[in-house]
Amino acid sequence: MSEQLTAQQIYDMGKQYGATSTVSNKLIIRGASGSFIYGDLIGKNVPSIFLDFTSQVGCNAIGHGHLAILDAIDKQSGMELLHSCGNDWFNEQAVLLMKKLCEITPGDSLGKKVFLSNSGTESVEAAVKFCKARRRKNGEFKRERFLSFHGAFHGRSGFALSLNCSKKVHTAGFFHLRDDGDLSFGQQTKDRAMPVSHICFPHKYDRGSTEDFKAFLDILFLENVNAIFIELVQGEGGIRVIDHECLNLLVEKCRKNNVYIVVDEVQTGLMRTGKMFACDHYKLEPDIICIAKALSGGAIPIGATVVKKEFDFEPGQHSNTFGGNPLACRVALALINELEKINAREFFNRIGILEEFAPQGLGMMRRVVFDSKQRRDQVLDLALDNLLLLIGAGEKAIRLMPPLNISEQHLRLGINILKKCM
Ligand code: PLP
Repeated sequence: MSEQLTAQQIYDMGKQYGATSTVSNKLIIRGASGSFIYGDLIGKNVPSIFLDFTSQVGCNAIGHGHLAILDAIDKQSGMELLHSCGNDWFNEQAVLLMKKLCEITPGDSLGKKVFLSNSGTESVEAAVKFCKARRRKNGEFKRERFLSFHGAFHGRSGFALSLNCSKKVHTAGFFHLRDDGDLSFGQQTKDRAMPVSHICFPHKYDRGSTEDFKAFLDILFLENVNAIFIELVQGEGGIRVIDHECLNLLVEKCRKNNVYIVVDEVQTGLMRTGKMFACDHYKLEPDIICIAKALSGGAIPIGATVVKKEFDFEPGQHSNTFGGNPLACRVALALINELEKINAREFFNRIGILEEFAPQGLGMMRRVVFDSKQRRDQVLDLALDNLLLLIGAGEKAIRLMPPLNISEQHLRLGINILKKCM
């Protein structure tokens, strides 16, 4: 098979054969190393090196081609055991990973269990099933409704999609052909894959929304609610950080009313926000945590749903083919091992540098907001022309998620390019 396609050929073939999805610019990626991506920008005739300030939406948390990740892949292929169905037969890497995930997530490590899958949306899908299964086992048949937030993004499969409330295009027509995907505040929907109410998100930087939220909490009816799904920092929704006091009030009310708390850490998990999990900032011990992206080591897709033991499934209630495969699990273990070795002082320096430039956000997950979507998109394009790869978030923000181990020099370089483009 040829590896000599020109950039234009790759682009044209992508358009010809690839189903339309989320490709939004003309960068063709050919290689990568550390915090950099090597590729071609259609229209420019020279291949270039781009600073990757997206970490590929958080997947490449320790950059591209990290030796520890390559070594894990090598070791596993050396054993010639690249795949076995981890949910059908146990393997050493999978059990080690599940134990590790129980240890690093908040709460008693012996009081938890893990379901392994292949993506963020599957980790959310499993979380919904855990909640439903437990209610059924308890005979709590009235608890059919789920809560999530305006601005929420939890994935693209049935239950996860039902929880979403960020962009209309994600949901429009996928539950009801005539449905335009629009949801106003507090509106309940029965016609998604499950009944969901989307409530206002108490955004730390917006006093209005936190005041509204407190008033709203007083009248929030929870008797028929199964679980609430929370992103402590909304990623796709625009890097919006939840207000601490509002979260505490919400958690207290949910606990009092027997509502399960699920935290989606698919984007925030594994040190992206400066601590192992965003939950650690809030001293929150949820019933369920969803993990993916960074767990892949930027290499092998994986998802994980960590639950309190009492949520465990009955045999056969849930499974999959690729979850818990030894290759993905070995890579995930190597990634966690590297995260645990990150020099704290240097890490907090990097966070400080990023925070000084972009005060809104948490840890290495921050944003710059523009007046309009059009202006934001212009800056994204200009940055790309200046060899800085970025992605948007929400309607008019740019998301800053450089690798956690980026050097200070490269971090400053990226910030300076962005400043120039603005
Ligand atoms: N949950 C959150 C918070 C996400 O940011 C994403 C993806 O961006 C998902 C779930 C879905 O993950 P995936 O695209 O791996 O299915």
